[in-house]
Amino acid sequence: MSRSRKPDWLAVQPPSGNEFTDIKRTLREHDLNTVCEEANCPNLGECWSGRGGPGEGDAGGTATFMLMGHKCTRSCGFCDVETGGGEPLDPDEPENVASAVAEIGLDYVVLTSVDRDDLPDQGAAHFAETIREIKRRHPGILVEVLIPDFQGEPELVRKIIDAGPDVIAHNVETVERLQGKVRDPRAGYEQSLSVLEQAGRESDVYTKTSIMLGHGEYDHEVYRTLADLREAEVDVVTLGQYLRPSREHLPVESYVHPDTYETWRRVAEEELDFLYCASGPMVRSSYKAGELFVDAVLR
Ligand code: SF4
Ligand code: SF4
Repeated sequence: MSRSRKPDWLAVQPPSGNEFTDIKRTLREHDLNTVCEEANCPNLGECWSGRGGPGEGDAGGTATFMLMGHKCTRSCGFCDVETGGGEPLDPDEPENVASAVAEIGLDYVVLTSVDRDDLPDQGAAHFAETIREIKRRHPGILVEVLIPDFQGEPELVRKIIDAGPDVIAHNVETVERLQGKVRDPRAGYEQSLSVLEQAGRESDVYTKTSIMLGHGEYDHEVYRTLADLREAEVDVVTLGQYLRPSREHLPVESYVHPDTYETWRRVAEEELDFLYCASGPMVRSSYKAGELFVDAVLR
């Protein structure tokens, strides 16, 4: 597939409707950020308002809250988050997120954060506190966390495990050969695998990761990555198309056809025995996370 023109299968409907407006209002009232909005995620309409979406009171709707500010201490070539750091943490954030989750009526929430290499514990305690506060206020809720690598420090990953999330996700992002091109130099393939492996080994949580396609990876490298992830006992994997946020970011090397995503889904689920694999051009790490998790694990 050529890299010059965006194919038709990447066209999306803009989000609309009362539910969408209500959720937006609640987020502003609590002064909260979601990745869904910040990243202009193409799945926003589907995730927020789809089957079992927020407001319907049924597990399945998904929104991803972004903790610890707008600025990341890292700079990855594919990512649209502003680089910076040093912003003080908001001590009210854990409570604010828990209140917004209640108001919106979410049954499944995804928490993620910028990387905070500037903080002594890289923000692990704040992240953990947010999980605890949500669980304390809503004992039945399912919490998925998409965590940084915490520079591979096991005691910081342990803080997250101890807070009791249901799913721990950490994104390996791309194949081993392209890590240096795609991710900040402080990130790395082995380091990310070790975070996932620790989370699975030291707890009963489900572990999850995501791979972007379109950075110039070969099929055998994607297969190797999936196999390495299974060896680290990762339960769930998602694959989606890399889209360039601006001309300042890495160019798209290829647009991968939807049929290829379906092939990878079958390889992941049927050959490599992942619990499930969400795979498609528009799939992102948290794509319909609640709905898919409930379908695969709880039904
Ligand atoms: Fe939000 Fe993730 Fe869904 Fe995008 S895929 S709208 S970031 S929950
Ligand atoms: Fe973006 Fe995460 Fe990289 Fe920070 S570490 S620049 S948030 S992908």
